[in-house]
Amino acid sequence: MRRVYNFSSGPAILPQPVLEQIQAELLDWNGTGMSVMEMSHRGEAFVSIAERAEATLRRLLGLPSNYKVLFLQGGATAQFSMVPMNLLRGASADFIDTGIWSKKAIAEAGRYGSARVAASAESDGFNHVPEQTSLELDGQAAYLHYTPNETIGGVEFGYVPDSGTVPLVADMSSTMLSRPLDISRFGLIYAGAQKNLGPAGLTLVIVREDLFHEPMAGTPKVFDYRVYADNGSMYNTPPTFAWYAAGLVFEWIEAEGGLQAMGERNRRKAQKVYDVLDASSLYRAKVRADSRSWMNVTFTLADETLEASFLAGAEAAGMSDLRGHRSVGGIRASLYNAMPESGVDMLCEYMREFERSQA
Ligand code: PMP
Repeated sequence: MRRVYNFSSGPAILPQPVLEQIQAELLDWNGTGMSVMEMSHRGEAFVSIAERAEATLRRLLGLPSNYKVLFLQGGATAQFSMVPMNLLRGASADFIDTGIWSKKAIAEAGRYGSARVAASAESDGFNHVPEQTSLELDGQAAYLHYTPNETIGGVEFGYVPDSGTVPLVADMSSTMLSRPLDISRFGLIYAGAQKNLGPAGLTLVIVREDLFHEPMAGTPKVFDYRVYADNGSMYNTPPTFAWYAAGLVFEWIEAEGGLQAMGERNRRKAQKVYDVLDASSLYRAKVRADSRSWMNVTFTLADETLEASFLAGAEAAGMSDLRGHRSVGGIRASLYNAMPESGVDMLCEYMREFERSQA
């Protein structure tokens, strides 16, 4: 068997103990004589798996009972529509524009109401997040939406925007469970699972109860949050296997020391790579020091023609998927929870060695 250090932005590396547990119980889950993949979502066995996953997640986040957890499908992209259908409903919402993913959320929301940009870092090439003082907030907005971590740009908020009494909505696809979170600051958060939470196919949404509204006219029933909240996320067949796997990931996080431990480890991992970048004359970090992502470290090589050999050498050494997103190029190292510190150490050593070899 060969396992590489997989630096993919998602679907991404999963904790090896979780994969091993899945392997061990793949054919016969807990004496049921069947795989989780084969179970009825309404049967006792799967319901116990589903409830356990939610309970673990609630413990990890310290979720108060007025927040509902929904296990959905459609990815974060479906949430770009589902949030405005349920919360915007023809009114106006504010958005912080920090790059490609926030732009997609803005464009989609504009189909259901007014999507107003409260701040944008576009004129600086999205190399930092806007400061709180630069946010031009509408106190009447239905919500303020932002993207705490831009997966492609590698730009991350070091603070939670203060939206006053306006509900705060966050696309946490690439930062969810990577550090402690004060959920009381948020009205709604959503995340595709395939980075920090588990396999693709599951979308996690956490909604504060007072935000359940009658959606705008014409909203399909499968896009109505209340339908999922009222049916334990089992209005129709949920992504059972991904839900089960995410539950195991939640348990792994808990066993590793919870979100505090994840945060400390993730900060340290990212800092190691940024230290290499900052000490180098070959590599250039794309993002300003105050807005650098712990999850997706993006950089370029001073001589672009070296990128191909940089990537090939990394691949040969057992480090995959370091190529930047096709829309922006460069290099991107995604360092989600499941990336071991040993993988980051190997990457840093490889980067230093590669630079020396160019001298
Ligand atoms: N938002 C962010 C921040 C993302 O990183 C991604 C996926 N890379 C998406 C939204 C889209 O997610 P999905 O593919 O699950 O729809």
